[in-house]
Amino acid sequence: MQEAEKIWMNGSLVDWHDAKVHVLSHGLHYGSSVFEGIRAYDAEQGTAVFRLEDHLRRLERSAAQYFMEIPYGVEDMRQAVHSVISSNGLGACYIRPIVLRGYGVMGLFPLDAPVDVSIAAWFWGAYLGEDGLKNGIDAKIASWRRIGNNTIPPTAKAGGQYLNSILAKIETHKGGYAEAIMLNEQGMVADGSGENIFVVKDGLITTPPVSAAILKGITRDSIMEIARAEGYEVVERDISRAELYDADEVFVTGTAAEVCPIRSVDDHVIGPPGPITRRLQQVFADVIHGRDPRWAHWLDYVTAATPAG
Ligand code: PMP
Repeated sequence: MQEAEKIWMNGSLVDWHDAKVHVLSHGLHYGSSVFEGIRAYDAEQGTAVFRLEDHLRRLERSAAQYFMEIPYGVEDMRQAVHSVISSNGLGACYIRPIVLRGYGVMGLFPLDAPVDVSIAAWFWGAYLGEDGLKNGIDAKIASWRRIGNNTIPPTAKAGGQYLNSILAKIETHKGGYAEAIMLNEQGMVADGSGENIFVVKDGLITTPPVSAAILKGITRDSIMEIARAEGYEVVERDISRAELYDADEVFVTGTAAEVCPIRSVDDHVIGPPGPITRRLQQVFADVIHGRDPRWAHWLDYVTAATPAG
């Protein structure tokens, strides 16, 4: 991990190495934390955070699912994200706000524990590798099922639920695959370990619905909107594993992974990145870099670009 200098903790900026929590923090023992993954890009007009307010609203909703009250409003958090980026002198970076039940009580009833909020930012390149973005990755369906709708809320981005993704990720990594795809309790396609999934067949784009126990990704939402504006039909419906093997194109989306082609699933070759995946990657790159005025409203500028020369 590429360290930066300062981390925002409960309202103030502290040195990177002083951003510590107590070992008896509730969130550490029981996974009672919620977090976000956000990216800022070097857009043409300056450093811009992609869909910052939408991420912070999802953070609030994740917290609410666990009856956690974040002691800062969305606008406070937005300002804090800006200050973390500018005080660290960062351009393109990954931003990680985390809200956790802190130190003070033990046991499973959590409502008396304090709620601590931190925001860190650092440089983080392509999550699935530059080569993966260009040529596609090999994925495998994990034997672990994605957490069910009646296990914990899959739509909340909570720390504890990632144990599920971690098991899937380790299993498929050990098998030599770059990413895990998880089926839900019904055996239908849900998510990658940290991404949403899309299938292209005969020009139609499909993606699992929210009821399939997915995380409602902000990149997923962006790609659906972009694809429709580009004239493609996008349908949210349950997808079977065999449909992945038989697809013309498969790709995953996520803040960390961006838009990443899948070239094989369970050793069934789908092929090199197809034309629709390529087109969506291209428009997405234009959007995040401020080159597409149709989605200028998704960029929250932190610093203005320095004029060349
Ligand atoms: N599904 C899961 C399980 C994830 O962890 C993520 C990453 N947050 C996503 C989908 C993609 O969500 P987003 O596009 O908002 O990053």
